Amino acid sequence: MGLWKREAWRLLLLAGSGLAVGWLLSHAWAGLALGLGACLAFHLHQLRRLHRWLTLTPQAEPPATTGIWGDLLDRLYRYQKGQRHTQERLLGIIKRVQESSEAMRDSVVMLDGHGDMEWWNSAAERMLGLRAAHDRGHHITNLVRDPRFIDYFHARDYREPLTLPSPIDEQMVLQFQITLYGDDERLLMARDITRLHRLEEMRRDFVANVSHELRTPLTVLAGYLETYATYADQLPPRFARGVGRMQEQTVRMQSLVSDLLLLSKLEIERGGADHAPLAMSALLASVQRDAEALSGGRHTLEVEQSEARALVGSEQEIRSALSNLAFNAVRYTPEGSHIVLRWRPQGDGACLEVEDNGEGIDPVHLPRLTERFYRVDKGRSAATGGTGLGLAIVKHVLLRHDARLEIDSRPGQGARFRCLFPASRLLEPQLIEQ
Ligand code: ADP
Repeated sequence: MGLWKREAWRLLLLAGSGLAVGWLLSHAWAGLALGLGACLAFHLHQLRRLHRWLTLTPQAEPPATTGIWGDLLDRLYRYQKGQRHTQERLLGIIKRVQESSEAMRDSVVMLDGHGDMEWWNSAAERMLGLRAAHDRGHHITNLVRDPRFIDYFHARDYREPLTLPSPIDEQMVLQFQITLYGDDERLLMARDITRLHRLEEMRRDFVANVSHELRTPLTVLAGYLETYATYADQLPPRFARGVGRMQEQTVRMQSLVSDLLLLSKLEIERGGADHAPLAMSALLASVQRDAEALSGGRHTLEVEQSEARALVGSEQEIRSALSNLAFNAVRYTPEGSHIVLRWRPQGDGACLEVEDNGEGIDPVHLPRLTERFYRVDKGRSAATGGTGLGLAIVKHVLLRHDARLEIDSRPGQGARFRCLFPASRLLEPQLIEQ
């Protein structure tokens, strides 16, 4: 018999017996009321036991009873036990995650949807100076106040990490990386990269110093060789040939040293001080003239300008980037090739482009082309007088102008090098005159 049926029978039995006894005593209604009252008293008693159990000893086993109350108490007990298990399991997981984050050498800070700090490990206390009791619930930008971090935090573009000194120790260099998850929550990680940073600095300084030190001896060598070359007709032919070759190699070494110095300067110096709106047509025309001089009439060069806005940047750096691209187009295309220098709109921004119809580059080389000393055809590049640093310089110049380099090329169909500048780097012509 079902539990409900049994309860209904119990009610009927009590009410029926009350009615029967009442009828025998000629008080049928009073008997019925007594029966129903007994039934109500029973249920009130069970309800009280349930209430006492839940309020006083919810962890203990429920009071023993039968019928629908027994079943109800039993179900409640099992449900409660299940909940307790799940809670313990989740707490265990949270504890393990916290313990493993705690053991990490990197800082981990959990931020809520507003950017307020919820939890962090002890590495974060050491690197960022967070204090457990004091800083919980505060916004992260109240503690890491560097404007570059604030911009990075609000820009919500966390593809690239951000490198900054620690807010509590200028000597410590940290790399910040934010991950967005869940309901707009963020996980902030900070790595101590001081050692790596120092090594990188040492490498840059070493290259810059060596290049600088090589300049003087090379100038002396070039000077003497030039003098010897003027007397070449008085030298035995074998020696005269040697002097000529030495002169060529000295020129190569000089351009290598000057490219290395330029690259070091681009890496070390902050830049931005000499940024101004550039006269684009004059710049294009002057690079065209230089490239024509290098070509010596073997190529045709053309300038196309369909963008009226001016680029705001360093004249020297942009000229160097554009010259490198234009000179490469002259060096790596056969006689009779056509080269176009363009300044044109591209989306919201603009594009400085050098296109040729030469032999092009196999796509397998494209991803590595901007690496230092990477050359498609080693023998040929050396013969053309390239240093192997041209495109690395272009890339660095563009990085300093919030721009990027895109290279399209297919073998046999020429090459197109595009420098893409964002709208924030452009100025309307009417604003320049003011
Ligand atoms: P390099 O000093 O050797 O010219 P770059 O970094 O300027 O060094 O160029 C890297 C390589 O890219 C070159 O060795 C050359 O093989 C290739 N390259 C550059 N520009 C062009 C071009 N317009 N057409 C074909 N190949 C090119």
